[in-house]
Amino acid sequence: MCGIIGIIGSSDVAKEIHTGLLVIQHRGQDSCGIVTSDREQLYVEKGPGLVSEFFNDGKLALLKGNMGVGHVRYPTVGSNSLRDSQPLITGHPSMGMAHNGNIVNYSELYDYLTKQERKVISGCDAEIILKLLATEILELTLDYKLDPKTIFTALESVMGRVNGSYSVAAVVSRNGLLGFRDPHGIRPMVFGKKEVDGETRYAFASESVALDVMDYKVIKDLEPGEAIFIDEDLNVTSKIIKQGKKAHCFFEWIYFARPDSVIENKGVYQVRLNLGRELARLWVENDFEADITTPVPDSGRTAASTFSTETNARYREALLKNRYVGRTFIMPTNEIRKDMIKLKLNPIIRETRGKSIALIDDSIVRGNTSRQIIDLLKKAGAKEVHFFSTAPPLKYPCYYGIDFSTHGELIASNKAVSEIEKDIGADSLTYQTIEGLKRAVGLEGNICTACLTGEYPTEVGKYKENLEKTRACERSEE
Ligand code: SF4
Repeated sequence: MCGIIGIIGSSDVAKEIHTGLLVIQHRGQDSCGIVTSDREQLYVEKGPGLVSEFFNDGKLALLKGNMGVGHVRYPTVGSNSLRDSQPLITGHPSMGMAHNGNIVNYSELYDYLTKQERKVISGCDAEIILKLLATEILELTLDYKLDPKTIFTALESVMGRVNGSYSVAAVVSRNGLLGFRDPHGIRPMVFGKKEVDGETRYAFASESVALDVMDYKVIKDLEPGEAIFIDEDLNVTSKIIKQGKKAHCFFEWIYFARPDSVIENKGVYQVRLNLGRELARLWVENDFEADITTPVPDSGRTAASTFSTETNARYREALLKNRYVGRTFIMPTNEIRKDMIKLKLNPIIRETRGKSIALIDDSIVRGNTSRQIIDLLKKAGAKEVHFFSTAPPLKYPCYYGIDFSTHGELIASNKAVSEIEKDIGADSLTYQTIEGLKRAVGLEGNICTACLTGEYPTEVGKYKENLEKTRACERSEE
């Protein structure tokens, strides 16, 4: 999971992209970068760590031009290194690209590009898309000036070859800004506009909140398979390049996106309120009792508020979060994650002692975090802990960019709910149902539920083994 921003028409482009990246920092903390372009060349600054740590006024001043793209990275395929930081660039034609998602047929495309004598230097799938697009454009024209028709025709071939999830923003030097999204719309991407002193600016972003903060008005979510190209004169052209069945990743609403973002016209905050109501239904059906409702901060908080109202188990923030420690799910290894959880959460004993607690969290992936939190609460005197997950059981790996890409790391892949309940030390465990999830998100069920059902929106069968092996191998090297 990563975050991307793309802007054209701004005399302050690097500063605006920098602001946008700060807003979507929660989508990746491993590395960050910006590429801009003027009429001469591309300018790139990228490196490890947080946006606020890596960038300074000096670096931003080096990023010239009026269009550019930025990226915050959370590693999926590829190693945790500067080599794989984005945006990535290529010289023929001159382009810089930022990508959010994951390519399923990476090895196949790597081999194809090698045969085309295109070198792939990083271990990052953004480079595959970048080099494929460059190759396809060069097949069509050697002219440096590109029209939208050429770019869209090249993209048709790219989308025909790439299997996976991708939302992409790219700056095409001396031409314009390009944004596109995979045919199923798995990863989010919005498009917006603003006017400043008679200057029109356009922007792409992974989340609407970035456009809000930069004062852009959201025009739309890109359609699945849609590409939008804005040329240097700010003419906007769009086309649906290839469309499949909509399959928006439900994890965005459950965990990843900020609650103040709106994805596909569904407010993340409102969906989380709905998820709490859906869990409360199950509570009533099962005749549970508890003294208090406590969220696992922050992603369980919104659902816990409606859960508490509907069940009358009064709302108490019995777990306190240290805001200066990063998100545990996106820490690269289990060992780092374990230490971080202790640093990150602390119970308020006066709220927990002798209480029966309904604990609301967004999901259970590996089970380690849930086990540790329940242990914390029990050691803080909780009489009972009844665990509620706003996501249904995650039984199958995600090959589209969320970091559980092997069966082995998913506690629900081979354990029954009663076994998981025992394993994490809960007095009871209640998962959201798939129907409840679909009702909470809305969108007539047009969401990806592959990690719940094993039914993937793209062909994954022949790639599974390789993908899981690669990820397991990367883990052992981390
Ligand atoms: S498999 Fe699950 S986590 Fe991955 S894209 Fe689909 S819904 Fe999201």
